[in-house]
Parts: sequence; C-alpha cells; structure tokens
Amino acid sequence: MSITIFDLQGYKIMSDISVLILSVTILVLVLIIIILSMSIKKQRRKLVSMSRENSSFKTLCDLIKAPIWFKDQDFKMVWVNKFYAQMFDRSKASIYGLTDKELAPAKLAEGYYRDDLMVKESKKPYVYRENEKTGLWFETTKFPLLEENGNCYGLGGIAFNITALKKSESLMHSVVYNDYLTGISNRLSLSVEITKMLTISKENESQLAFICIDLDNFKDINELYGHSVGNEILKKIAQKLKKYASDKGILVGRFGGDEFAVVVPNLKSYDYVTNVCEDIKKHVNSIYDIFDSNVTINISIGVSIYPKDCDNYEDLVRQADMSVHVAKEQGKNRIVFYDEEIGKANFKRIKIEMNIRSALDNEEFVLHYQPKVSVDGKSILGFEALIRWNNSELGFISPCDFIPVAEQSDLIIHISDWVLRKAMIQNLQWNKQYGKMYPIAVNLSAKQIYRMDFLPKVLSVLEELNYPPQYLELEITESMLMSKDDASRASFEKLRSMGAKITMDDFGTGYSNLSYLSNFPLDKLKIDRRFITDIGNNKENQQIVKAIIMLARAFDLSLIAEGVEKIDELQYLQSMGVDVIQGFYFAKPLAPDTVYDFVKSVESGDWAEKVVRD
Ligand code: C2E
Ligand code: MG
Ligand code: MG
Repeated sequence: MSITIFDLQGYKIMSDISVLILSVTILVLVLIIIILSMSIKKQRRKLVSMSRENSSFKTLCDLIKAPIWFKDQDFKMVWVNKFYAQMFDRSKASIYGLTDKELAPAKLAEGYYRDDLMVKESKKPYVYRENEKTGLWFETTKFPLLEENGNCYGLGGIAFNITALKKSESLMHSVVYNDYLTGISNRLSLSVEITKMLTISKENESQLAFICIDLDNFKDINELYGHSVGNEILKKIAQKLKKYASDKGILVGRFGGDEFAVVVPNLKSYDYVTNVCEDIKKHVNSIYDIFDSNVTINISIGVSIYPKDCDNYEDLVRQADMSVHVAKEQGKNRIVFYDEEIGKANFKRIKIEMNIRSALDNEEFVLHYQPKVSVDGKSILGFEALIRWNNSELGFISPCDFIPVAEQSDLIIHISDWVLRKAMIQNLQWNKQYGKMYPIAVNLSAKQIYRMDFLPKVLSVLEELNYPPQYLELEITESMLMSKDDASRASFEKLRSMGAKITMDDFGTGYSNLSYLSNFPLDKLKIDRRFITDIGNNKENQQIVKAIIMLARAFDLSLIAEGVEKIDELQYLQSMGVDVIQGFYFAKPLAPDTVYDFVKSVESGDWAEKVVRD
C-alpha cells in the first residue's frame, strides 16, 4: 500500500518515501517526548523524595545531643543542628554565614581552620580527641562533602562529649595500674615500666638495679595486730618510699602482699645501690604507731642488676626475689645482692620441691638422735629426734633446706606425724633392746600446732603405741606463739598434765615479747646456738645468756644449751649454772644404730673423764 499526500488544492506534494521518512521522524519525536516526560516525572519524584529525606535527616540531626554542623567550601556555616545553636546560645539563622573565627575563641578557631583545610585537601574524614580547658573532652569527626566528580564543596562535622568515657578510662587505668591499697604502681604497671626502662638501658648501655623489699614477719604482725593495722602499715611504707623516690628518678611500686619494688635506672656504681638500700632501710625500719599499737617494722632487701645478673624483666624479678629469701634465711633485716651461689641454691630448692612429695612414700626420711648430756658428762638426759632426708638424686639434705619447703604445703603435717610416731616407736624399741628409755624430743611446726586435730593425733599415737607421755618432749619456737590461739595452748596444757614436757627451742632468736613465759605451759628453755658459740670470749653473748638464765629461774624453767662444740664453751656454761648440754662436743645427731654405743661410753664414765681432762 502507498500513501500520497495532497494539499487542499489537490496537488500532490510528497512522494511515498518522503511520507514514510516523515512518519518515522514524528514517531521518534513522540517517543522522545514520552520518555522525557517520564524521566522528568521520575526526577521530580526523586527530588520530592530527596527533599523529604533531607528534612528527615535534619530532624534527626536536631534530635542528636551533640553539635553537628555543615560548612561551605570557605568554611562558612551553612547548616547547624539545634544542639550546636544551643551551645552558642544563638539562633540557627544567626550562625549561618559565620566562620569559626567569629564563633570560637581565636586559638581554637585557628586549630579548627587548620583541620578543615586538611580535610578539604585530603578529602578524607578526620577524627580527633580534644580537651578544652573547661575539663571537657570531645571526640570530633570532620568529613568532606564531595560532588560526584570528587570536588569538595564543603565540610560536615560532629563532636561527641566523651568526658564521662575519658573519666571511666582514667579510672580503669588507675584500677589496672595502681595498687588498690596504697595507690602506688602495682605489679602490672611495674612490669610495663621496667620493661621500657630495660629497653632504654639496652640502647644507652646503662645499668639498672631492681630492689625487692619484703617486710619481716608481716604475717605474724597481721595475725597479732589484725589486718587493718597491717594495711595501715603498708600504706605508710608506700608513702615513705614514694617520698624518698620522688626527686631521684627512681620508680617505686607494690609488688603484692608485703613486697615492694624499687627500680634505679642509669646506675653509675653498685655503691650507689647499696646507699639507696641503706637509705630505704633507714626510712622504712621504724616503729609505726597505728590505732594505739606500736609495731616495729624491719625489712629484708634483695637486689638484682641488669646486665650483670640477667637481661630481662622476669629474671631480674626472680633473682631479686631469691636474694630476699636469702636475706630472710640469714636472719632478716639485711640487704643481699644476687650472685651465682644464690642461683645454685635456688636450683636446689626447686629440686627439693620436685622430689619432696614422694619422699614419704619412698621411705626416704630417717631420724637421727642427738643426746642431751649433763654438763659433767656423767649422764644422758634425753635425745632430740632430728629428721634427715636421703634422696637418691640429691643425697643427704638438711632439714634447714627441706622443712621450709614442706611448710609451704600440708606436707609438713604428714612429715610431722611420721616423725612423732617414728621417734616413739624407736624409743620403745631401744627399751626392748637395752631395757632403757630416754625422753625423746621432737620438733613441731607452726602449721601443725594450730590444727584442730593436733591434740587428738598426739593422744591417739600415745594410746596406740601405749607410750608413756613422760618420755615425750615437744620443742616449739617463739615465732610459733605469735598468734593468740587458746586452742593450741589448751592442747599443750593437756599434754603437759599427762607428763609430756614442753621446750622453747632456739630461745632468744624469736619475737621479743616474752609475755608467753608467764602464761604458756612451758618446762624448759633451750638457749640458741648463736649465743653459745665462743661464749667464753664474747661479752655480749655472756650478757644475753646471763639474762636468759635469770629469766629461766624467775619462771621456774629448766635450761639446755645447744650447739656446744668446745670444752671452753662447756666450762663457761657450767660456771654459769647451765647443767644440760646438747652439741657436737658430746655428739652429733646419731643414726639409730649408733646411739647405744654412745650410751655405753657415757655410762662407762669415758665422757665424765674427758670433760675433767679437757
Ligand atoms: P633445732 O631443733 O634447733 O635442732 C638443732 C640443730 O642444731 C640440729 O640441726 C643439730 O644438728 C644442730 N646442732 C646441734 N649441735 C650442734 C653443734 O654443736 N654445732 C652445730 N653447728 N650444730 C649443732 P639439724 O638437725 O640440721 O636441724 C636443724 C633444724 O631443723 C632444727 O633445729 C629444727 O628446727 C629443724 N628440724 C629438724 N628436725 C625436724 C623435724 O623433725 N620436724 C621439724 N618440724 N623440724 C625439724
Ligand atoms: Mg629443736
Ligand atoms: Mg634449736
């Protein structure tokens, strides 16, 4: 089919092809118009929705309790939220068009300008925390407003008040890094600081001293005076250390319990550390007047040095700790520097800890017996049972080395039970063999006597073995009596009423409060070896022993001198009126099968002759 178009006059004006082209063109135009109109409608709908979103966004921003602002590319305010306007106590409209210069103090405005410029140029958000002088903390986020082509046409910002967060952060820091009781650095904080100091020391090739301070007898003080007194003492000591260290570049902290640490960086000489330790002793050692109690405090100090002794934090602490232990063993209230010998002794201690658990089961313990002899050498008045440990790996180990290890756990209870029983069985056996029984003394441990089952256990062994109580002697030490425990006192009273004897061992080395002499059931005082050594020439020891003799007389107690090694010691004690002697002069602790030989030599008068002859 073909179409021909005529004008009104009937002239044919277009050919078929031209008509076709025109029709297509019209169709295309119509289509374009339709598409355009649809697109315009869509765009309009989007704009409407965008403007709705925009106002929702603004409403949302107004609800937020933090300042929010938008600036143009010249950093003039174009929109702020309600909170922002309230902050400046102005209307929103009055802020628009202003810069920070006109809104904030000059110094702050300068900083804001620099930040804005950076965000605009980097086209990246920037988050920072600021502390206004008011004490308020803000976390501010600034972000660029970017066109699709990447041009920055302005900035937005929001600032959150994080003062509460900051406060809780600093509280957390203080809880984590400060000692809750004394307020000085705690163990964690010390570990962080010392590790940093060690890194600096390595870089500078300088030395650093770690000083570990441990209060002497603090456990006893706590028990005797109560924990609140103990706590007050710890607080006072912390303050003293802090004051001492304040202008010396020295770090102080509490390691835990009754242990404090002092760190001296940039050490020039070992003498300087010695001086610091002496100074600390002078400052801390004193009588503390707390809640009407006068408490005497002394400290033991252990020192390790980087890089002489080790090169890391853990070893530094370990070595100073070992040195403190040595200071305690050597009689407390002293300063000990770490050396290789201490390391070896500690290694032995660890070995003891590893082996001691199985020692009882493997029957590795034995008892030796040291005779107590009359000062003229004529008669044996009893024996003291002294434990020995013979281990296949470690050899013969002294009770001084392993009893303290056993005392750290309940092992001491099992060992003590074994000693008590074994000593009684041995005595009964001698009685069977030689027709003679001697009083046998056993050493007790503090852990043992404060247990509820102490008395029932002793009574049950006595009964089971049918052992006459008058042949049992119990040796205790002064430090065991520091806690006011009426139950343990009653136990000793009961045993004493049955005929057993109670001896105060190592007398003169323990706690100076002697009130127990009048109210604790005691029979004998054993003068400690340290006062006996060379007593003939040592005037001070002579005075001490004289005083002990007077005390014993005043409280109607018998006396034994232990550790008598030489005849002149024996003669001096004889002249002072001490009549029972225990010591190497007569015999070292004897293995059970050699005891009878000694008994015979005394009975035959050999010793009496020797004493006269010497
Ligand atoms: P201790 O009860 O004061 O015992 C006396 C210590 O002095 C013994 O040491 C003894 O061998 C030693 N000794 C005696 N005479 C002399 C002397 O003339 N010169 C010298 N240098 N030393 C002398 P040992 O046997 O090594 O015992 C040491 C400590 O171990 C005892 O001191 C006691 O506290 C404790 N111990 C010993 N056996 C036991 C036990 O079975 N149980 C408990 N809990 N502790 C024990
Ligand atoms: Mg003893
Ligand atoms: Mg003793």
